[in-house]
Amino acid sequence: MSDELFRYDLHCHTTASDGTASPEEIIDLALQSGLKGLSITDHDTILAYEKAVPYAEQKGFPLISGIEFSSIHLKESVHILAYGFNLQEASLNQFIDLHKKRREERFFAMLKKLNEKGIPLTLEDVPFQGIPGRPHLAQGLVNKGVVKTIKEAFDRFLGDQRDCYVESLAPSVQETLDLIKKINGVAIIAHPQLIRNNQVLLDLLNMDFDGIEARYANFNPSQSLRWLKIGKRKNWLLTGGSDFHGANKPSIQLGASFTEHNVFEILRMRYDANKKML
Ligand code: AMP
Ligand code: FE
Ligand code: FE
Ligand code: ZN
Repeated sequence: MSDELFRYDLHCHTTASDGTASPEEIIDLALQSGLKGLSITDHDTILAYEKAVPYAEQKGFPLISGIEFSSIHLKESVHILAYGFNLQEASLNQFIDLHKKRREERFFAMLKKLNEKGIPLTLEDVPFQGIPGRPHLAQGLVNKGVVKTIKEAFDRFLGDQRDCYVESLAPSVQETLDLIKKINGVAIIAHPQLIRNNQVLLDLLNMDFDGIEARYANFNPSQSLRWLKIGKRKNWLLTGGSDFHGANKPSIQLGASFTEHNVFEILRMRYDANKKML
């Protein structure tokens, strides 16, 4: 089966977190891009699915549940993708509520730091529809003319350890994995090439993940080779996705990276089985 004809993007963000496309828009975009299926993986929220599930059904477009969890290991930020769980799971939604509370508190703490620096940013300047993140503050700074680009906002104010950065108090990788296992989801190490600490990477490779995001963003096949080899050796699922954020990451198109048909089918079967359980 040709890759070109059966591509699935398993990593993208909507307005429910820090993307700029609505759930409906991202499904329309996926259809226009010739993708055969999608998972929406907003940061720590599944809010997009309230709109995305009925819309995908109406369009006859395959959509499977997904989320990108923020977590911490050895004080480093680690992103974990989960797929195929039942969206109604009570323990999942409790976990997400804690993330929402944590993110809102952190967001207001960063806003306060910006104000203390003399930048008069208010909540009206940084509208977010779902859960807040640093990109919303960055966009607010662009809109106010404080900086020219989102990148500049991160470089000057919001990037890790910059003046207005506030540390994330996310749950540990192990706690996150435990939750994903409990809800019978599929746990995937997100964008491993972005993990800079080698000990973190080694630890993750020895934990109970089901797969690795071997293809990512605009990275070329040779950049994916290392992760494909590692994943194959572990007999893990090899996934891929663009990490599309719309205008918040303008260089990345939906479908820029992809998952193969057989892997999507495995995840889809898991999703269908979990849907019948509740
Ligand atoms: P948060 O989850 O609130 O800590 O924000 C992290 C998100 O900000 C990431 O998922 C990216 O979408 C975005 N981000 C992080 N660093 C940068 C950067 N240097 N430039 C642009 N966006 C970034
Ligand atoms: Fe993001
Ligand atoms: Fe990520
Ligand atoms: Zn992402």
